[in-house]
Amino acid sequence: KITLKSVEKRFGDNTVCDGINLEVEEGQMVCLIGASGAGKSTLLRCINLLETIEDGEILLDGEDISLPGLNPQPVRRRIGMVFQSFNLFPHMTAVENVMLAPRRVYNKKRAELRSEVAELFERFGLADRMDHYPDQLSGGQQQRVAIVRALAMKPEVMLFDEITSALDPQLVGEVLDVLRLLKGSGMTMVLATHEMGFAREAADKVCFLKAGKVIEEGPPSALFDAPQHPDTQAFLARAL
Ligand code: ATP
Ligand code: MG
Repeated sequence: KITLKSVEKRFGDNTVCDGINLEVEEGQMVCLIGASGAGKSTLLRCINLLETIEDGEILLDGEDISLPGLNPQPVRRRIGMVFQSFNLFPHMTAVENVMLAPRRVYNKKRAELRSEVAELFERFGLADRMDHYPDQLSGGQQQRVAIVRALAMKPEVMLFDEITSALDPQLVGEVLDVLRLLKGSGMTMVLATHEMGFAREAADKVCFLKAGKVIEEGPPSALFDAPQHPDTQAFLARAL
């Protein structure tokens, strides 16, 4: 479970997270929506400690992970993140990409780890792609490998930042299927997304952000079908 309390993040005099409160219960999928520049990516980066916050608290299962001076590495193992650009190493095969971090961190034998991650490749329909190089994979396959790479660290929470935005439309579905599968397995997830149809269908909660604030949040049925705030109404009128 993740809890954000009055989180403030500024870049110079630009306040990008302006008193954000957010709760993500265990096993929930929470979608962040909002216009470009609203602060969705920055918020995800704060949760993963890729950004330091100026004020407020970020709790992971009740434990404050935003305390200044805390080592971010153990936290980043517990909170996986996947980006729009897959960032696979081009000179390494899919399975080598996936094994890189767990081999360093968990000091496991190569063969043991390979059979462990093989199960993940299998689960996400990539069993026959393990030994391919990234440029031999479609964008959708590369993004699924990037998700497998994050899962190989056995995170408790996954953050996804616009992970389908760089994909050809016909490849979006296979990546969204992976998210559905993960949700079915009980993973706790926070997504920044422009895929309103997916958010409506799969999210437990949708949060509309504008200028670093959560303007409105609720179950997708309420937020999409009966938005209360004029800013939410205006955004959805353009986005849907
Ligand atoms: P998009 O939908 O385009 O991805 P977003 O909601 O993810 O937008 P952010 O990328 O979080 O928005 O950006 C929020 C604001 O923070 C923007 O005004 C952006 O210019 C600013 N910003 C983000 N990263 C930095 C940075 N490293 N340095 C300075 N300003 C930044
Ligand atoms: Mg963004």
